[in-house]
Amino acid sequence: MPPMVVAAEIHKHFGSLHALQGVSLEVEPGEVLCIIGPSGSGKSTLLRCINQLESVDGGAVWVDGELAGFRQEGDSLYALTDREVARQRLASGMVFQRFNLFAHMTVLANIIEGPVTVQKRPKAQMVAEAMTLLQRVGLADKRDAYPAELSGGQQQRIAIARALAMKPKLMLFDEPTSALDPELVGEVLAVMRDLAASGMTMIVVTHELGFAREVAGRVVFMDRGRIVEMGPPQQVLGSPREARTRDFIAAVL
Ligand code: ADP
Ligand code: MG
Repeated sequence: MPPMVVAAEIHKHFGSLHALQGVSLEVEPGEVLCIIGPSGSGKSTLLRCINQLESVDGGAVWVDGELAGFRQEGDSLYALTDREVARQRLASGMVFQRFNLFAHMTVLANIIEGPVTVQKRPKAQMVAEAMTLLQRVGLADKRDAYPAELSGGQQQRIAIARALAMKPKLMLFDEPTSALDPELVGEVLAVMRDLAASGMTMIVVTHELGFAREVAGRVVFMDRGRIVEMGPPQQVLGSPREARTRDFIAAVL
């Protein structure tokens, strides 16, 4: 099977800041890749380039075999229109640190909004699918609640269900538990663990090293816009080769 994600030597600048300095990685279908690293190392920027919230300044990204942002015809590349980019972006679901639910909509309405308005899927069918997703994240009884009535952990589980309702081929998580009270982290990680077990391809930026050790196929350590180290969790977390990785892990634990 071809890789689900390929990043080839990608670069990203913000003015004079070189935020990604030639990052390359491949993620296989069904793989869970965890990205760790200090604040400002480029982890979010990398996710945002993979799902085209940012464009790359150099290198290229492929998702499920499609070159992000371009169409290839013979030897020529044509930039995609905004509409075509929007279609490509549907391949990945993203979950952020902040839950970003629509505050004025019920849980059910939050989940069916994208599929019904963007994907034009029939509402009755989406309600049924949303209920299945709500059961999967353990919140079927909250279908008519508003986000403000839910805990942070429950809101984040709804955010995951909402992303899954779009039937993404891969899921990107950007520190999904960092904004949660410590006692709510476990319930979100449990949903993510189930999702991984179901075969979803996942890229997870996290400081939860226990989760990375248990669930990740590989762990990437980033620092200052580069991948410093990448390998199985027992190697990167258990016996890191690089001093920078060791120092980071010691600081997070
Ligand atoms: P991380 O997620 O690892 O904390 P980021 O990818 O958010 O790091 O940021 C990498 C670097 O790029 C940081 O120095 C950050 O301040 C900078 N940066 C990120 N997004 C922007 C932006 N939109 N404009 C300017 N600088 C940015
Ligand atoms: Mg970040």
